[in-house]
Amino acid sequence: MNVRCRTAGRALAIASVLPCIAAAPVAPTTGAPGSGGGVAAARRSGLLDDALSAVRPELIRADIEFLASNEFRGRDTPSNEQRLAARFLRNRLQRLGFQPGAKDGWFHTYPLTWRQVQEPDTKAWLEAGGQRRELRFAMDWFLGARDLAPRTFDGELVWIGKGGKADLAAAGNLKGRIALAIDRGDFGESLMEPVAATGASALLLVRDANGSGPRYEEHFVDTVAGLRQGSASWPQEGEPKGRLLRAWLGDGATQALDTLTDGREPRPGDALGVQFGASIVLHGDGKVQCENVCAYWPGIDPELSREVILVSAHYDHIGVDQQGRVFNGADDNGSGTTGMLALAEGLATLGPLERSVMLIWVSGEEKGLWGSQAWSDAPWLPEEGRAVANINIDMIGRNAGTSLGVTPTAKHKEYNGLTRLAERLASSEGFGALTSADAYYTRSDHAMFRRMGIPVAFLFADIHADYHQLTDDPEKISYDKIARTTRLVLRMIDAMQSPTLLPAE
Ligand SMILES: [Zn+2]
Repeated sequence: MNVRCRTAGRALAIASVLPCIAAAPVAPTTGAPGSGGGVAAARRSGLLDDALSAVRPELIRADIEFLASNEFRGRDTPSNEQRLAARFLRNRLQRLGFQPGAKDGWFHTYPLTWRQVQEPDTKAWLEAGGQRRELRFAMDWFLGARDLAPRTFDGELVWIGKGGKADLAAAGNLKGRIALAIDRGDFGESLMEPVAATGASALLLVRDANGSGPRYEEHFVDTVAGLRQGSASWPQEGEPKGRLLRAWLGDGATQALDTLTDGREPRPGDALGVQFGASIVLHGDGKVQCENVCAYWPGIDPELSREVILVSAHYDHIGVDQQGRVFNGADDNGSGTTGMLALAEGLATLGPLERSVMLIWVSGEEKGLWGSQAWSDAPWLPEEGRAVANINIDMIGRNAGTSLGVTPTAKHKEYNGLTRLAERLASSEGFGALTSADAYYTRSDHAMFRRMGIPVAFLFADIHADYHQLTDDPEKISYDKIARTTRLVLRMIDAMQSPTLLPAE
């Protein structure tokens, strides 16, 4: 489950490729030979019980205790531990007889921007009258996360005081030069626009000698740790290229500057006769590839098999904190991740269905639904299949055993036949009337799959005190509840095999 509220992207009409899912229930059908009803359904009815029995709480428990262990370091996006988790999933799916569901195999990969400062090549210096002072990164000078982009530049320093209107007027055109300003206490934020307008190539900040607030050396500790550790972001055009570079000078650099200017006190607009130069170098090519795990369960009906039911769960979580403590994410979303593995066991027992099923474990959910966004931006399914529905499961292992939430409900404008199906079948798995998860309609990956114009249903057992805390651990999980939710999904998939998808209400 994602912390932030997201919009589901461009709005799409409720009318979908499957009107009977998107709209009202349909009349019972007896089915015709080869159409998936009748004989096929009868053949499968005995198997369904076996398939439901194949979804076993103790196996789910074993999987969660593995994937939500400290060794997986919170399955952060991106991380080596996440890649290991993806390979564990792939291994299991291979053994169960699933087929690779992505264009290039089991993994649908997508690029993220990766910014990690490369030391010691990242450096800065001050130079005047043939004297050069090297500045040590993160000791004498500092960068913010948004300023971390590969570039090299130098220019003469021009003092602009506090950067007020009169100060900037005195400085005039600063093209090719670097503005040096006193921090007003906002780390230069309010100066970015006016200084960029002068044409300056960078803004350097020093603390007011009487300034309040922490020294830069203390303030930037966490920022620097983040720059060294690296961070991923959704690729943005043009950012931060073209943005005014901002850097901060610590006490050591300020003293060096004093020495180079013989302690003269400048007035706004004064060129200091000192050059500042910096070279910012990043690790790698600025990109990192992330993975969604895609497992395909091909249908056998010549026509219906092209209609693919997407079932999704995110397998990432939020990693570790600055102290290295691990967020295990047993419920978020170890529960959905392992529930979907159990679903795979169920499908393998049930055998091929009329329609195809794609199980997709997405990454990047916690960072902003990245994996599902990347996949749904350019959906690819084997055998020219097209997605016809999405069931998403996220956080299904906590709270009362009989309670389970769903969205969209009857109170939501996108209420659909998938939800109705879940509502109708829920009691078979010991759930009471499903509660509303409508407040979460934009908060997990179904929001991205919804952009494809297909009906979606989100099953969600609600948040709790351990949500996004270090205490979301395996011992607090109800494995029986995950198993029953998974069986509910299996029942829904089984019920969606007739040509009209929905059996009699
Ligand atoms: Zn979450």
